[in-house]
Amino acid sequence: MQHILLTIDVEDWFQVENLRPWNPPATWHERELRVEKSTHRVLDCLDELSCSLQSDLSPDTTPYANRNQIRATFFVLGWVARRCPELVREIRKRGHEVASHGNSHLLCSDMSCSDLDLDLRESKALLEDCCGQEVLGYRAPSFSVNESVLERIHKAAYRYDSSYNSFALHHRYGKVDFRNSASVNGIAIQCRDGFFELPLSNLSLGQKVIPWGGGGYFRLIPSFLFVRGVRRILNTDGAYALYLHPWEFDPEQPRVKEASWQLGFRHYVNLDKTGAKLERLVKSFSFCRFVSCSDYLEAVMNRLVSRN
Ligand SMILES: [Zn+2]
Repeated sequence: MQHILLTIDVEDWFQVENLRPWNPPATWHERELRVEKSTHRVLDCLDELSCSLQSDLSPDTTPYANRNQIRATFFVLGWVARRCPELVREIRKRGHEVASHGNSHLLCSDMSCSDLDLDLRESKALLEDCCGQEVLGYRAPSFSVNESVLERIHKAAYRYDSSYNSFALHHRYGKVDFRNSASVNGIAIQCRDGFFELPLSNLSLGQKVIPWGGGGYFRLIPSFLFVRGVRRILNTDGAYALYLHPWEFDPEQPRVKEASWQLGFRHYVNLDKTGAKLERLVKSFSFCRFVSCSDYLEAVMNRLVSRN
């Protein structure tokens, strides 16, 4: 069985790293809060897709009627959880996993060790208070992990990190050498005892790594081509991990007019098509299991998945 891990980084339109010069954290409290509405849009979209997958099942598959319930992982920013605790509870109530996107959306590589420790522990405790369940996973802002950051995430009592992006040409993405890791099962890399990395998926063409894990690339690349790439990744890795943000489902969000043409294009391209593109992707892989990161890890630990 092939697995698809849908992951959503829950932050608002003004917290995006690319637009940080025009939206510094000191101004966030003045900005229009849209994350609640846009996250609900994502939740509704996933509910509808779950229903349509279930109705596509033939009577022969009745014993597995819940097979295609989509369970996603929502990496929620502590800043958002503080303002919208009900939203965190709603994510949990709809059957998804709540995980941490840190507290402040500062890059891990820019924080001192003590600040990072605090950020990791505070966001975990806050989210656990909100949803009444242990938070197992963490995703670093802008995928800014490295080996020492992973060590600190492990020490902050997380069970997994999902921040490694192998696309080396992006200057903010962290670099980690996993060659000495204990084991790889499916896409899960066991870095330490009881601690795993679930990397974002990319497409390998020869020596080249093409970003294929979501975000602006997902919105830019035509759906038929994106689906072909995902099929190729699934055939190699047995699993595919996609990341999106609630603001990518919000075409009416305020525009930062001062941003350069390139930054604006990357942030705003095809915002009105994200929902339809996600629908096309999910329906193209209705034979897969749509699991949360923690479900996937459980399957890994039960040795239910393996690299093809
Ligand atoms: Zn983020």
